[in-house]
Amino acid sequence: MERHSIVVVGGGGVGKSAITVRFVLNRFVTDYDPTIQDSYEKEIVLDQNKCLLDILDTAGCEEFYYLQGITYRTGDGFLIVYSITDRSSFDLVTHFLHEICQIKDLKEEEVPMIIVGNKCDLEVEREVSYQEGQDLARLKHCKFIETSARTNQNLEEVFYAIARETKQI
Ligand code: GDP
Ligand code: MG
Repeated sequence: MERHSIVVVGGGGVGKSAITVRFVLNRFVTDYDPTIQDSYEKEIVLDQNKCLLDILDTAGCEEFYYLQGITYRTGDGFLIVYSITDRSSFDLVTHFLHEICQIKDLKEEEVPMIIVGNKCDLEVEREVSYQEGQDLARLKHCKFIETSARTNQNLEEVFYAIARETKQI
């Protein structure tokens, strides 16, 4: 079975764990320990073929720079998550993108990456417009999807899209 290693990165509190747990276990977590980094496996069917997603939910251990290097090197594809209710998390997207490309020594268009604007159920608290997310993604040559781990909106779409991008040819 084909294996795809997916790494979920982004600022603190944006919903990396919530997205991962929602997709893998179909549960919405509100109290996940922010310091826990964990990996999950989920089998999906992609174009009639079974494949295994190996999903790493990172916990931003920036101080362990060399560990981050290993994580990024082993990832086939990346979900770069921000919260639409937190402008500073959006500003971090470029930073993550840059780090990933630098460590992998590849150009932006060569790394399977999707920019994910999470918490789209919190429309009243929105600080980053859909258009801004879309514009950044276009500039960085990646896909853009808004999600909600709470309502389960677009989560399947995100993981299937990154699986498709990391598909071995
Ligand atoms: P992480 O630090 O990126 O792993 O963030 P968490 O997954 O721990 O989520 C941080 C907080 O945001 C938790 O209280 C979650 O319940 C909440 N949260 C995560 N995703 C969503 C979402 O899509 N909608 C709403 N309303 N809250 C969310
Ligand atoms: Mg977390």
